[in-house]
Amino acid sequence: MITVEECRLAPKVLLHDHLDGGLRPSTILEIARETGYDKLPADDAVELADWFRTAADSGSLEKYLETFAHTVGVMQTAAALERVARECVEDLAADGVVYAEIRFAPEQHLEGGLTLDEVVEAVLAGFEAGREAARADGQGIVVGCLVTAMRHAARSREIAELAVRFRDRGVVGFDIAGAEAGNPPSRHLAAFDYLRAECAHFTIHAGEAFGLPSIHEAIAFCGTDRLGHGVRVTDDIDLSDGLDGAILGRVANYVRDKRIPLELCPSSNVQTGAVASIADHPFDKLARLRFRVTVNTDNRLMSDTTMSREFMVLHKQFGYGWADFERFTVNAMKSAFIPFGERLTLIDDVIKPGFRVLMG
Ligand SMILES: [Zn+2]
Repeated sequence: MITVEECRLAPKVLLHDHLDGGLRPSTILEIARETGYDKLPADDAVELADWFRTAADSGSLEKYLETFAHTVGVMQTAAALERVARECVEDLAADGVVYAEIRFAPEQHLEGGLTLDEVVEAVLAGFEAGREAARADGQGIVVGCLVTAMRHAARSREIAELAVRFRDRGVVGFDIAGAEAGNPPSRHLAAFDYLRAECAHFTIHAGEAFGLPSIHEAIAFCGTDRLGHGVRVTDDIDLSDGLDGAILGRVANYVRDKRIPLELCPSSNVQTGAVASIADHPFDKLARLRFRVTVNTDNRLMSDTTMSREFMVLHKQFGYGWADFERFTVNAMKSAFIPFGERLTLIDDVIKPGFRVLMG
């Protein structure tokens, strides 16, 4: 048996976490008060946290999107962005995350008059302050920033240029997010062609709400380094003869052969209906078939979760022990967008020793 306290001690790696999906409820209330944002559905931190979880759980896309309208709504000034970014790093470090890539969409934070560059600068300053605060607390954490473009919008090329402009100042990659259906990744080919020409890293939300065609485009047309979720790759795996007799189609084979990392987010995948329940989550099947699976939080506020809780969810459902979690963590670290040497150092000096302690 593994406890959530032990999970907190494990050195964890997080590749898929949205800045606007992880605010502290008390911070939302305070910034709303300071900035005059008056649309919040509750004025007490406990009630507000409850509202976020319930709304995100409701199965209604409208309600789910409304949760982000509020978090993004209070993230429209440099001070607010910096604070949210700092607290995000502090919260992850306190949970024992040793490496995190945190993503957000700069184009959603321009309502207060900031430019795209100012938005990114504020967030990076917040990450730096959070790293300092965590270090002072004895918690080392390395943070990379992913800049996201919204797939229903038409700014992806401009946002890709923004990511490259900040590549030596803390932005380690690019992402594309938003409603999948009707917005295939190939609509943003100009952005992906540009990034490839610049030798820049990117991931694409694909195979979450929408099926296999989205994954196929993301890898075959866009050349993505990783898949955001990618759970629907199972649509291309025939399991009628069980795991040992699994027959993989061309897309699934390609994903596995090329070791394309899957940024799986167990609780979030259930919440958004990508899978029916944790018991139905293909995490374990994909892990057993030796896909490069990683464990992620997606939106900690909406899913009321942490990396430690996601570990616990998987432990309870699939019986994973430390050797499994170490494998998933090394998978994630290998798949990070920071340089190879830095990844190796974290694996050898932080992750492996940390799990060795837990395994006794
Ligand atoms: Zn996501």
